[in-house]
Amino acid sequence: MRSIEQIKDLEEKTVIVRVDFNVPIKNGKVEDDFKMIKVLPTIDFLLKKGARIILITHLGKDGSASLEPVIRHFWEISKFEKDKVEFYENVRKFPGEEENDPVFAKKLASFGDIYVNDAFAVSHRMHASIVGITEYLPSYAGFQLLEEVKNLSHALSPEHPFLFILGGAKFSTKIPLIKKYLVLADQVFIGGALANNFFKTQGYEIGQSLVDEIDYNLGEIFKNPKLILPVDIIVKSGDKLVNKKIGEVGKDENILDAGRETVKKLALLIKDSKFILWNGPLGKYEAGGDEATKQVLKLVLESKAQVVIGGGDIVSVLSSLESKSYKLKPNVFVSTGGGAMLDFLANGTLPGIKALE
Ligand code: ADP
Ligand code: MG
Repeated sequence: MRSIEQIKDLEEKTVIVRVDFNVPIKNGKVEDDFKMIKVLPTIDFLLKKGARIILITHLGKDGSASLEPVIRHFWEISKFEKDKVEFYENVRKFPGEEENDPVFAKKLASFGDIYVNDAFAVSHRMHASIVGITEYLPSYAGFQLLEEVKNLSHALSPEHPFLFILGGAKFSTKIPLIKKYLVLADQVFIGGALANNFFKTQGYEIGQSLVDEIDYNLGEIFKNPKLILPVDIIVKSGDKLVNKKIGEVGKDENILDAGRETVKKLALLIKDSKFILWNGPLGKYEAGGDEATKQVLKLVLESKAQVVIGGGDIVSVLSSLESKSYKLKPNVFVSTGGGAMLDFLANGTLPGIKALE
């Protein structure tokens, strides 16, 4: 990949920068600007070299969202010259984006002289503003993309013992990872709603807990000695949160989080690990099930292991710790990518990265 530092002449050039400002918005305000802050150095660099910038992002899945809150927030957190940076529309509004339509890609390319990808978190997508556009313009990687690739490449040849912690909800998207990391890692801990599928397959009552209804053939995975599941859970029973054993969930109850014994068990594994990769929270953290995730996060952040954490939801739990003055050490890398991080770790590259080679 060519870095933006290799661009010969930026004076008076218009640079199209694909960023990922797909950030959570609440009551018209940006809730978490982690991904926005990460690309400011690239923008700063290009402007100082005399370029004008057109920022391209998507917001939300279908492109119907207005970029207005994002644009307002961008100008609150940056001090760039107003007439040097402009935003294109929410790029997912155009069907050509997700179809990677060459006509649309060419149209995007016509807006500038140079293309820069600094949107690691979308680089697993074969979209026009990520892949197609590179056919029509000299194309380079921004600092944030380069930093992701550098740090995540370390994770491709990890030190052992390697502990993979996987939580969250979308079972169908995570099943290939479970299989993959049962090979690559030494231990695979599965928490969050994903664990409910395993409990259900084992024949345990899971009450009203969130579970994926599709029947995944989990038999082979169960046999794998690397697989580790919660040994206890926090259950919502009426208005109360109760720490229970796996087999004790009532029909009207709801599994919210991993239990205290599970956290103790994880603490021992974390202590022995040299490399820890974590995606997805261990509980329904938005609804009171955040204890286990927070406690385990602290243990992971204090450990001596090399740590890579990624995924929108787990990173927002991390931000809530950080804002309580929790400092990250240099052995911890927080990826802006969820799906992109996991695809990169599984395949060693991404379509958007290949397009820059
Ligand atoms: P990430 O964004 O970190 O990759 P995911 O998007 O896969 O994580 O999953 C996050 C979602 O999983 C959150 O909305 C969280 O509430 C949900 N979740 C985790 N554990 C549970 C649970 N036990 N019950 C219901 N939802 C859960
Ligand atoms: Mg998520």
